[in-house]
Amino acid sequence: MSDGTEHPRVVTAVPGPISCSWVDRLAERECPAITARRARRASALGTQTDDPIVWDRALGANVWDVDGNRFVDLTAGFGVASVGHRNPAVVAAAAAQLNRLTHVMGDAFPDTNRIVLLERLAELTGLDRAILGSSGSDGVEAALKTGRMLSGRSSVMAFSGGYHGLSYGALSVSAYNRSAFRRPFEQQLGSHVQWAEFGGEVPDLSGIGTVIVEPVQGRGGIRVPPAGWLGALADKARSAGAVLVFDEVYTGFGRTGDWFAYQDEAVRPDVLVLGKGMAGGFPISVAIGTAEAMDAWGASEGQAIHTQTFLGHPVGCAMALACIRELETVVPSVTPTGEWLRAQLVARGHRVRGRGLMLGVELPDTLAASRALLQRGYIALPSGEQAEVLAVTPPLTIARTQLEAFLQAFDEVVA
Ligand code: PMP
Repeated sequence: MSDGTEHPRVVTAVPGPISCSWVDRLAERECPAITARRARRASALGTQTDDPIVWDRALGANVWDVDGNRFVDLTAGFGVASVGHRNPAVVAAAAAQLNRLTHVMGDAFPDTNRIVLLERLAELTGLDRAILGSSGSDGVEAALKTGRMLSGRSSVMAFSGGYHGLSYGALSVSAYNRSAFRRPFEQQLGSHVQWAEFGGEVPDLSGIGTVIVEPVQGRGGIRVPPAGWLGALADKARSAGAVLVFDEVYTGFGRTGDWFAYQDEAVRPDVLVLGKGMAGGFPISVAIGTAEAMDAWGASEGQAIHTQTFLGHPVGCAMALACIRELETVVPSVTPTGEWLRAQLVARGHRVRGRGLMLGVELPDTLAASRALLQRGYIALPSGEQAEVLAVTPPLTIARTQLEAFLQAFDEVVA
């Protein structure tokens, strides 16, 4: 009986023939900008490609592809599967909700799951009121609008290497992979954003309306700012009257060992953005803020000025509540597991960034390492503007035995 704590079992070339045929079909019908196809190359195993494997099912830290290969997922599916893929409690909550009410009407009619979730989020964060969304980018949009509402100013300060999503508002404050992501759209991104060095000298914030920052940068390469930097930024924001937004879409819900990464420095944002691991696999996010920040919107006069069709989706809210209940027992294990893993990697002579189970191992060729690991049944992706680290952000529930076996494979790959 598999329980999601198994080691890899690779029975075909990776990607296998069935994955390849599905990816061929995908390439016919999906915009070519979405799924990367890579050159086919001849190898001792025959013709191989670096095309993706096509996922079939997953449980815990294990993923199976359509060729029947079993992998260990060190990405937690972009950080989403914090309590493990297909976590039984989360699935049970989803199934029960699907059989009761599968859709509710955004700003027009709520259901009770939304209300209980908002109360639980307030308890966890110490913040007061929230706007739910469907993606991390949605949460960022709501936070940026809240900053505008509260400060009355349009200018925003954002940071080098920051990644907040690719919808227009979020992209306007994202510097990660600037040239590729922004260039075609630059003229449509506005001129309201100023830039400062992440972790560098705390910038002058006079005249700034909103400051948006990741307490630990995710896609920018698992970058932790110097101790005290977030606090100094918060102080300056406060004295300049700028609204402070922490984007914890990646770091939130236990990823760095605390429920939220900013708690490590005991600073509090005006608005906190959460997503990814919030519901263990349902696309749901939140921008939660102080009463002062959220009340700056004023009351709806009948037509909400910020809403969406799927706002407060009942299945997402039910899954988030179940996921948070699971996290209550999981979060305390993150720091010990993360510290152990870091120590193992450091003992091997690697430089390791990050905190908790959000680690980045600096390697000269992360793409080659990622490819070689996939061949051995480990899913891990490069991260950073120069792909300078291999990101290790597994399900927070990953078994120690799985990490031990990963370290062995890692030794072979980087030897
Ligand atoms: N903020 C951060 C810090 C993120 O890491 C991401 C996604 N990687 C986003 C925002 C955007 O989230 P989404 O892709 O769900 O829109």
